Amino acid sequence: MSDQELLRPALEIDSVEPTLEKSLRPSFLGDYIGQETVKQNLSLCMDAARVRGDSLDHVLLSGPPGLGKTTLAHIVAHEMGSNLHTVTGPNVEKKGDLAAILTNLQPRDVLFIDEIHRLQKTIEEVLYGAMEDYKLDLIIGQGPSARTLRIDLPRFTLVGATTRSGLLSSPLRDRFGVQLRLDFYPIPELEKIIFRSAKLLGVDLDAAACTEIAKRSRGTPRIVNRLLKRVRDFAQVRAGSAAGTRITRETARAALELFEVDDRGLDKMDRRLLRVLIEKFDGGPAGIETLSSALGEESDTIEEVYEPYLIQEGFLQRTPRGRMATRISYEHLGFAWEPSVES
Ligand code: ADP
Repeated sequence: MSDQELLRPALEIDSVEPTLEKSLRPSFLGDYIGQETVKQNLSLCMDAARVRGDSLDHVLLSGPPGLGKTTLAHIVAHEMGSNLHTVTGPNVEKKGDLAAILTNLQPRDVLFIDEIHRLQKTIEEVLYGAMEDYKLDLIIGQGPSARTLRIDLPRFTLVGATTRSGLLSSPLRDRFGVQLRLDFYPIPELEKIIFRSAKLLGVDLDAAACTEIAKRSRGTPRIVNRLLKRVRDFAQVRAGSAAGTRITRETARAALELFEVDDRGLDKMDRRLLRVLIEKFDGGPAGIETLSSALGEESDTIEEVYEPYLIQEGFLQRTPRGRMATRISYEHLGFAWEPSVES
């Protein structure tokens, strides 16, 4: 392969994402609701970089899916006046793919790597020098004729997002100058996000309907937006409201019940997970792999998508011996809580 071919972008940069998410995504830090510490940190670092006339330090964003990591990457690029290049960790299959992306960056561009914990180790190693010295060492050819080609890269910013910061190797984690963790959103912030999205979608809903959706959104803006859209559809189709009619709490509640989201924000899968734990494993402890086969769901998905909220809300406990359902789970699902059950 010639050097030229090696450096051609081999990957489709920028993934296809649902238009709804795109249309509701805030573009400025000022429109990004909540996560105050994260915003203050980012804003400070961006100001400092601007004053220095330099690229922003590399940023690692961690937290459960749907909390706004991708949105922040877009905002950083937008506020720094830079281009954003997006790629997902497991889609980078060869070192050459990453080399091609890196060598096509412009100074101060933002490279967003989603699910960075799923990058292959050998590919991750290419990032070390790129992040630290803005250099890329490429080995061209094989055997005795192999030679190393050192390429200077522009000063860029890597924004990495991960749902599992614990799985990141320390050499990679240590190379991020800014490390920020996103938490689930409290109800008042979710309400603000709903009002903002409702305005953008041209949906009129009263404060009580807004609270109802917020309560059932698992502290997650992506779910807020999804439920809002479903409530709107329900209001138009099932409840027979004309477009533009104000949505009330009753309509919101009826819609969410139809979609099987309960008043603690748990969906069908959350309840199934807890029910299996209680019915098949006497409330636990049950190991993650055991649970995974009982549910027919990937253990990664259980750990990344379902557990964080269940743990935060006190439905589930993660112990060294496995997962355990708590008293809150028993009561929520209508099971008798037996004092002999370990808690
Ligand atoms: P992640 O990358 O963490 O999975 P995203 O950045 O894709 O999450 O966020 C999902 C959706 O939620 C976005 O389309 C955006 O509209 C909305 N969103 C996320 N965080 C916020 C926020 N703080 N304020 C307003 N909307 C938000």
